[in-house]
Parts: sequence; C-alpha cells; structure tokens
Amino acid sequence: MEWCRELPKIELHAHLNGSVRDSTLLELAKDLGEKGVIAFADVVHVIMKNGRSLPECFKLFDLYHLLTTDHQTVTRITKEVIEDFAAENVVYLELRTTPKKNEAKGMTKCSYMKAVIDGIRAVDTVDVDFVTSGTSNVNCSEATPLNCIGSPIKRKKIYVRLLLSIDRRETTAAALETVNLAMDLKNFGVVGIDLSGNPVIGEWQTFLPALKHAKELGLPITLHCGEVPNHKEIQAMLDICPQRIGHACFLVEEEWKRVKFLKIPVVEICLTSNIRTGRFSSIYDHFFADLYKAKHQVALCTDDSGLFSTTLSNEFYLAASTFGVSIHHLSLQSKHIIWQVLHKIYWVVSSYTGLNKDEMFLLARSAIQSTFADDEVKHELTKIYDDAANRLI
Ligand code: 5GP
Repeated sequence: MEWCRELPKIELHAHLNGSVRDSTLLELAKDLGEKGVIAFADVVHVIMKNGRSLPECFKLFDLYHLLTTDHQTVTRITKEVIEDFAAENVVYLELRTTPKKNEAKGMTKCSYMKAVIDGIRAVDTVDVDFVTSGTSNVNCSEATPLNCIGSPIKRKKIYVRLLLSIDRRETTAAALETVNLAMDLKNFGVVGIDLSGNPVIGEWQTFLPALKHAKELGLPITLHCGEVPNHKEIQAMLDICPQRIGHACFLVEEEWKRVKFLKIPVVEICLTSNIRTGRFSSIYDHFFADLYKAKHQVALCTDDSGLFSTTLSNEFYLAASTFGVSIHHLSLQSKHIIWQVLHKIYWVVSSYTGLNKDEMFLLARSAIQSTFADDEVKHELTKIYDDAANRLI
C-alpha cells in the first residue's frame, strides 16, 4: 500500500462534493443543526454509513448540497479536497463539479465557480499549477488567472484542472448555460464537460443540444455511461463519440465492440464506488481485467473519495491485489475460489519479482494521454513519471 501511495497518480474522475471529508461534513452539519436548519442527530448516521445503494447515494448528495452550497463553504471544500488528493501523491487532478444556482444564498453558476477557483487559490500546503493564460470574459473579477499558485516554499506540486458537470436533473437551457460557462472559464483551468447525476432521471434528448454545443466549441466531453442497463441511452451516448466514458458497468458485448470501433479511448474505472453501490456483487466480477487485458485504455479513479471512504492509492492497491493474477493467467469467468487462492500465491511471488509494480506504474503513467490538459502539461507529467521510475521500479 505504501508503494501505491508513493506512486505519482492521475485522477480523472472525482466529484467535488463527493470528495468532501467526513469530518468537514459533520462540522457543517453540526453548525446547521445549531442554527436549526437541520436536525443534526438525524443526519450523523447518514453521513457515517458505510455501503450505500446508488439511489441512497443520490439522496445523500442532496444532503451534501444542503451542507456545502454557500460560497464560503464551496471555497473551503475545494481547498481541502485538493490538499487531500495531493497528500496521496496525485500529481494531476481533474476535479469535476456541477455549477449551482442558489438564489437564497445569492449564488449563480458563475459565482459558484468563482468560489471553487478561490478554493484552488487558497491551497497552501502544496503548490498548485492551475490555469493557463489569457483573460476571461466572465466577471469573476477576483479570480485572476494565476500560474503556480502557492507559497514560495516549494513542496509537492499538483496540477488542477476543472470539468463542469451537467446534472441530469437540469433543463436544456441550464445545461447550455453550463457549457457556455465552461467556455468562458477556459482560462481559469476548465478543460471539459461531464454529464452526471442520477442515471434514472432525465432524458438524453434534454442534454444532447448542450453536449453537441460543447463539441462544436471544441470542449472535450466525458459521460457517465451505462451506470444502469439503459441500452438505448448507451447507444445514443456512444453515437456522439465522447472523449471518455465513466463507469460503463452495464455495457454488453456489442456495446464494447462499438466503444472499440469508435475508438472511444478511455474508460474511467471506479472500483470501490462500483462495488459499494452494488453494481457488481463481487470485485472479481468487475470488467477491469477484461479491458486491461484487451489493452483498452483505462484510468483508475475514486469517483467520490469522501462518500466511499477511499483514496486513489487505495484504488491502485485494490486493482493490484485483486487482478494481479487474472491479468496474466485467468479469465474473469474463473471460479472465485481458485482466483482467491491463486492471487494470494501470486502476491507472495510478485512481491519478490516486482512485476506487479511495473504494471501499476505503467497503468498510472498511461493516464497522461487521457487527461484533457494541453501538451505542455502532458509533457511535464511525463517528466514526473520519468523521475519517479528510477525510484519506484
Ligand atoms: P458536485 O457536482 O455537486 O460537486 O458533486 C456531486 C454530484 O456529482 C452529485 O450530485 C451527482 O450529480 C454527481 N455524482 C457523484 N457521484 C456520481 C456517480 O457515481 N454517478 C453519477 N451519475 N453521478 C455522480
């Protein structure tokens, strides 16, 4: 596990509000409880519960949003989330969040994003490479573009880029507003668009105009795709050829063939999230090893590190310890019992050969090409991995 922590990692699928620390949520809940806005006693066990179904997660997000949606808190959680990822040796973080309107708090989608940007600027335990250059035509006046924000005493460095999420509850107009905002904030580190939110809510046709608009504007797209077995929608999602898809739990063979045929390069894999929400009854049923074996580009991600009590180091450790044998010797159909015994033996052997570390290193490094960052950042990330290779493998 320590090796997985030391490994430089690239996080491509992390939702801001799903990555908030439990301790922060409890503090915010206590505060709102004292103000009489919520009943603290009712929410404590909800926040601390382990293992939730997908519908329960979305109910919980509504609670999270009640706790976090004011400017000051958005700034605070952004800062903390970045610091937490940096502490795990994440060297590039593509953080996604849904810009929110909240009239009661005087919040617009733009001011929400300004609070996020302020949070990035507030990080002080690590250097942050955040934005590129140029000017924005959005009046986020205090969020001046900066390069390498942080204290002059250099410690770790993390590249942070943002994806703006369209929530499936939103209207076409609201989704278009998000895409236009993303375009306006391109000089503030926004590099793409995500579609997320409860997969059983909303119609594909509602989001399509905004996603097409994003494509026309040259904004890369990643879609939560196939979280539920809605094959008509999966088909429609693949039709627009997104740059990446996330989860992809319920794709069937024909759909995988299309993914490969259309050269949709990357699948963002969130192992703990998929297991905790019951999308696979066992980790041994997960399709990760099949994709890896087929040399399809995959990126290990956390999804909601706070909600699922995980870290990216933990996701790498989980993949290594679960799939080490299967990648080389077994098909996913193998009996679990054989699998478990063999993988224990493999771990004993591989801890001497170091083979597994090579694979993990290459897996982490291969995510460079899947980022939505520009070539300069990709080049810098390549250098980080070259330096780390001497140390780690
Ligand atoms: P936020 O965008 O508010 O910063 O992060 C939380 C939001 O991300 C949730 O309300 C939900 O829309 C989205 N989200 C987080 N995890 C998942 C997931 O596993 N699947 C889907 N479809 N959406 C998610």
